[in-house]
Amino acid sequence: MTPIRMAVPNKGRLEDPTASLLAQAGLRYEKTDRALSVPVRGANVELLFVRAEDVCELVADGVAALGVTGLDLVMESELGLDVVCELGYGNCTLTAAAPNASEVAGVEDFAGLRIATSHPRSTSRFFAGKGVDITTVPLTGSVEVAPKLDVADAIVDLVSSGSTLLVNGLRPVVTLLESEAVLVATADRRADGGDTARVVTMLRAVVAARRKRYVLMNAPADALPLIEEIIPGLDAPSVVPLAGSDHVAVHSVVDADRLWDVLPRLEAAGASGILVLPIEQMIP
Ligand code: AMP
Repeated sequence: MTPIRMAVPNKGRLEDPTASLLAQAGLRYEKTDRALSVPVRGANVELLFVRAEDVCELVADGVAALGVTGLDLVMESELGLDVVCELGYGNCTLTAAAPNASEVAGVEDFAGLRIATSHPRSTSRFFAGKGVDITTVPLTGSVEVAPKLDVADAIVDLVSSGSTLLVNGLRPVVTLLESEAVLVATADRRADGGDTARVVTMLRAVVAARRKRYVLMNAPADALPLIEEIIPGLDAPSVVPLAGSDHVAVHSVVDADRLWDVLPRLEAAGASGILVLPIEQMIP
């Protein structure tokens, strides 16, 4: 059976985290500098290495069954692709910003302005939705210097730390979109013997696992009610009696970003020998 193709970014910010995601999902391949497409070892999948900007088009055209790219590019493409899964990296916001010296303070203040952006469709859509009349100045790079060059009065650009805005004398005014890397497919997925679904399951399993930790501990049996309160209901712990002791071993899955709150409370509740382990893959 012909392999299903997945388009992934071959350069830029999404390249390395996407490679880590594929590796953790067990999709192993040998990448050479020049190869545009490579087979995945032991799976009926071929990877197409392309620019993040081209992923949506290749998926929409049916060249690739799946693609990894930024949500901002999916929205900008207006190709009606399905976001199958959010991948938890490449986080940034599509932000409208104005020069520090300008009086622009809210959405309405952009009325009549020229806005430089590499996301002209998303920008037009956003301001039209707010009933604010603007003109876009489409640029593919260095958007943030446009106001200095008097090519535009304001910009809409991707922002993560905000430091690029700062060094260019710009301040964020309004967020158009929260973006992150996503897995996309066409709405009408073709029959492929289940290969696409298998890849989706494996990638989802990694993304879910990255947000969780496996926590093991020993605790006095009478501390269990309190421990179950600290570790919330959905992730009900496994409890194993310890031979010849009034202690039990407790195993549970906890949100990674809740450990800060949970661990000291478990210790205070009498738990000891607490171990926190990463999870490779998880299918809830
Ligand atoms: P690149 O290939 O490096 O131009 O980046 C492609 C994608 O990376 C963008 O479309 C965004 O989805 C994502 N990204 C994440 N953070 C940023 C950022 N601060 N600036 C630009 N792109 C970002």
